Amino acid sequence: MKSALITGLNQLEIREIPDPVLPPGGVIVKMVSAAICGTDVKMLLNGHRDLVLPRIPGHEGAGVVIETDNESFKTGDVVAVYPGIYCGKCLNCLDGNTSRCDSIRIYGFNQDGLFRGLVPFNSNEISSLIHVTEKGNTGNIALAEPLACCISAMNKVSVKKGSALIIGAGSVGVIFASLLLARGFHSVVIADRSEEKLTSQCPVNAKVIVSEAESLESKLMAEGVDAGFDLIVPCCPDGLKWGFTGFMKPGGSVLFFSGNNRGVESNRVDMNEVHYKELVLAGSYGCNLNDFRDALNMIVYDEIDLSFLIPHYISLEEMPGCVEILKKNNTKKVIIKRF
Ligand SMILES: [Zn+2]
Ligand SMILES: [Zn+2]
Repeated sequence: MKSALITGLNQLEIREIPDPVLPPGGVIVKMVSAAICGTDVKMLLNGHRDLVLPRIPGHEGAGVVIETDNESFKTGDVVAVYPGIYCGKCLNCLDGNTSRCDSIRIYGFNQDGLFRGLVPFNSNEISSLIHVTEKGNTGNIALAEPLACCISAMNKVSVKKGSALIIGAGSVGVIFASLLLARGFHSVVIADRSEEKLTSQCPVNAKVIVSEAESLESKLMAEGVDAGFDLIVPCCPDGLKWGFTGFMKPGGSVLFFSGNNRGVESNRVDMNEVHYKELVLAGSYGCNLNDFRDALNMIVYDEIDLSFLIPHYISLEEMPGCVEILKKNNTKKVIIKRF
């Protein structure tokens, strides 16, 4: 079978590797769709804290069980892959925070991932597989992971409705915007420095603003968006560079959803402003199992509109060109369909 392999910085190869053998108590899943995440591109080009090389990347995907030695799964079952392998026994897991598991291993980072034709899951890894009903809309289930990360982030702040500013019109930015609209936020603004990104594949009910980090405050004022936001979410590379305290409503929340590339300085936060405005600053990275289930249900039962997001489908062999595809077509999401 074919497999993608990261061997070094900006080095991605397609290799022929032996088919996996069914692990005792486990299953083999034939991948049907696997989405390329912004983090995959970022770690290919810049490395990543959790990446150990060489590595088969891929943590967003779904497939069909084709061999099983586990009574919970039968051949033909459609499954989505929760991106982490968690122990289920540590205090974090027992609290439902599987992404903070003491021994978490993430597919595609510190464990070989999903960009290959067949993926074996042993008896410890099988808890990452979530059954998907075939009765609903299963077309977008490879998007469950990024949506789950947005849901997980929202579980970290108390603001549930109001106005929001999303910084970054990449795939996760627009998915986040769509989640907020689905949850009843009355105003969702997406800012990005690229006009091209803002004019394609954004939720129709979101307002878009072209701006650099430095000019955002004046651009918001010029657009008449000066009443402040209840929620700000940086969803872009170097997300910690963007200022926010100037245009937050008192009591508002900021979700630090994306980090900076190595060597890029973070925005300095005026903690007096945080104090006087009673702001909530929250970090979010990854998603818990329950968030993943919620995301799958939202997608399968059409509780979120992701129809504006038109993926560019490729074969696994085309993956080494994915960075160029993302640049050239201005496509927000690339999904591997042929393995
Ligand atoms: Zn992802
Ligand atoms: Zn654990």
